[in-house]
Amino acid sequence: MLASIHTPTLGLATAVVQLTLAAIMLFFLHTRKTHPGFGKWSASQALWSVGFVLLILRGLVPDFVSVVIGNYLIISGMALFYDGLATFREQRWRMQLNGVVHLLGVICIACMAWHTYVTPSVNMRVAAINLYRIYLSILCASMVWLNREAIGFRKVYRLLTFVFLISFATSSARVYWALTSAPIAHLMTDDFAFRVYMLFDLFFFIAVAFSVLVLTSARIEEELDHALRKADAASRTDALTGVWNRLHFESAGPCEAERARRYGSPLSVLIFDIDHFKLINDRHGHAVGDQVIRKVAAQAVATLRSSDQLFRWGGEEFVVLLPVNARAAVEAAGKLRQRIASTDFDAAGTVTISVGVAQLAETESMESALQRADAMLYCAKDSGRNCVMADVRQEQSAAETVY
Ligand code: GH3
Ligand code: MG
Ligand code: MG
Repeated sequence: MLASIHTPTLGLATAVVQLTLAAIMLFFLHTRKTHPGFGKWSASQALWSVGFVLLILRGLVPDFVSVVIGNYLIISGMALFYDGLATFREQRWRMQLNGVVHLLGVICIACMAWHTYVTPSVNMRVAAINLYRIYLSILCASMVWLNREAIGFRKVYRLLTFVFLISFATSSARVYWALTSAPIAHLMTDDFAFRVYMLFDLFFFIAVAFSVLVLTSARIEEELDHALRKADAASRTDALTGVWNRLHFESAGPCEAERARRYGSPLSVLIFDIDHFKLINDRHGHAVGDQVIRKVAAQAVATLRSSDQLFRWGGEEFVVLLPVNARAAVEAAGKLRQRIASTDFDAAGTVTISVGVAQLAETESMESALQRADAMLYCAKDSGRNCVMADVRQEQSAAETVY
């Protein structure tokens, strides 16, 4: 069947496929978000396809355009694809490697020009460009395989490695054929192997374009996912203190309450508020006030256990969730109060806090426990501040001052 295929028709079909793929990739590059490296791959596809068009126009355009420029575009396309792989895995352009690839391309095209004008030989030109393709196929296959973790997407890097290994095999066969067969006068009319080669190239270009489109979109999805998770964490974090904010409490609070209920484990809630904070702002200014809030949060983080969760409730008010009973929570609150009271707040001097504590009852909602803790905070304020008040209704029936 291969013998009856009309070579120029196959050449034209290959050129149309290559140009279409180049157009698709360039369209993608300009209209979609792509990862660095995709631009080089698109340019590589464009150069390669235009080079191929010039190649099959042999006889219709001057030899210099068809042989020298056409092949040089193809060679640069191959080198650029390799550059794209390096860029994609975030490796900078390196003279030692990428420079050599491009330099060998120039030597290859010089060799082809020699075999066009000085000692004309289609066979030698075919051997020269395929030697270059062998070199690039090995480079690309090893780059993809060795950097499979950085390149990502298991099935795609396997496909790409396979495609470049096939490219290596067909180019090797083509070099062997060019060096051992009778001299040919014209690729388009005399060369049977050229048809096989073009059929392979149809597979090669479609597989490569598919792979790089999947790779770039997978990488973009990964980046978007990462950005989304970062934005989500930022939206739940208080910008001034770096602790969780109220928004995070909206989901974490009920979730912890549900967990405590399900496993029958204790959960306590603490609310603390800086005493006479308005005075600090009025006397020393908002900047010092902000510093005090930051330092109070830092002291709280340092005092609490890693299993406790600290939230800035708003202004100079904080909430803590502790997976312990009311007695242990009161103890934690006492330590916290003492630590704040003994900390030097620079310009603001001594700062104190008042704390309200409540333990979540068996069937109680987080909102209700929080209200009880808040009521205790008010009690603490009314009792002269710098103290801890706990609603210990599980154990006794009334609020009691603990410290
Ligand atoms: P109390 O002992 O009863 O808690 O008195 P207080 O002065 O601390 O309470 P009040 O709620 O009257 O004052 C809180 C002040 O905190 C009012 C508000 O301007 C200030 N504030 C709220 N958020 C911030 C902030 O992020 N930075 C600064 N510097 N001040 C804030
Ligand atoms: Mg206050
Ligand atoms: Mg307040």
